[in-house]
Amino acid sequence: MATSSTNTKRECAGPVIRACRLFRQRFGSAPTHAASAPGRVNLIGDHTDYNGGYVLPMAIEHRTAVVVGPSSDQQWHFVSEHADAAQISVDAKKINDPLRREWTSYIRGVITGFVEAGFTVDPLCVAVASDVPVGAGLSSSAALEVAAATTIEAVVGARLEPWSIVLLCQRAEQRFAHVPCGFMDQAISVFAQSGKAMLLRCKDKSTSQVELQPDDAVVLVVNSMVRHNLASSAYADRRSSCERALALMQRTGLEDPACLADVGDPAQLDALCNEPGGERLRARALHVVQESARAAAVKEMIESGSVDLVGLALNASHDSLRDLFEVSCAELDTLVSITQASRGVFGARMTGGGFGGCMVAFVDPEYADQCCREIADEYAARTGLIPAWFITSGARGAHAEPV
Ligand code: ADP
Ligand code: MG
Repeated sequence: MATSSTNTKRECAGPVIRACRLFRQRFGSAPTHAASAPGRVNLIGDHTDYNGGYVLPMAIEHRTAVVVGPSSDQQWHFVSEHADAAQISVDAKKINDPLRREWTSYIRGVITGFVEAGFTVDPLCVAVASDVPVGAGLSSSAALEVAAATTIEAVVGARLEPWSIVLLCQRAEQRFAHVPCGFMDQAISVFAQSGKAMLLRCKDKSTSQVELQPDDAVVLVVNSMVRHNLASSAYADRRSSCERALALMQRTGLEDPACLADVGDPAQLDALCNEPGGERLRARALHVVQESARAAAVKEMIESGSVDLVGLALNASHDSLRDLFEVSCAELDTLVSITQASRGVFGARMTGGGFGGCMVAFVDPEYADQCCREIADEYAARTGLIPAWFITSGARGAHAEPV
């Protein structure tokens, strides 16, 4: 069975080997430390994280590698095969400048996190190589941060608490890349186990691993190949709608939820309709409450082998993201409806923040090969876009690598 399209970027030599090669070419010596971290796909539970709800991500086989060695001057030197392999050098005294904004921001944020935690980190030469598609909603940013943090952990000879690494990386992205992200992406990149997804309750950071059942269904990811500019402004808008809905529920509702996902009975959200613009707020909040419940339920469905029910939950999630939360787009809707109608597909949904990026589906392994090609052909015929796709089994989280 083919497990990816030919335009899915996973080259023959893995990212660690390529990063070591790039390091030797640029810096003229061998690296001393290396680590890799995976990208991720969220099976279900979108826009629930910042509402304290459940999410169910899994790590994908595409990884980012960060390799380092000592710098001979008082400068940090960065090179990534992604960023045209152009070298960026930063004075050691200016490494913690959050105003400087390019791809090294993510790593400089991580370095600053270690320094603020009391570690001495001498300047390094850093080379990066990755198979995680950048900007496709598979979290290349968290893979970069977590791989960098895991490498620096090895350099300073410390073992940080895994949650400290997660939160250090989240802060790096918030402060240095100026992205108001949650911690789901970093958490799955740190905690992922091979062959498993992870149910994470964002309210209290509780986690449980969920064994996937590849004989029942495989997980297919298809990249829509679009990303609309609306994404970041719409994200901020949806976040503030959720905050407003929560404040109103706390003031006027019969319940007093600590977070929106805590609302036990969706009927209570009807109280929001008495407010100006309340219908829309209710729709946003209803998505959050039901989506979080779906994510928790899907864990049980996977474990009991109820793949048909998983499929229905994925379909319901897509309907809700499209109609109630309004974060889908024409290309994702087309891709999802083609997939849902394909033989052997249990269910499909957009995944991630929305307005482009990827779709995720549960597919009968017997039909997977044929249906991936059919979906890709049909999507190309309808949109003129050639989608990249791959099947994922759930990869291992971040770890140090031999150099
Ligand atoms: P996503 O996380 O969905 O892939 P983001 O916009 O959050 O998309 O993060 C993408 C950004 O992360 C890139 O624009 C780049 O700045 C940085 N990045 C990710 N991976 C790499 C890499 N391998 N090399 C250099 N920069 C990277
Ligand atoms: Mg990202």
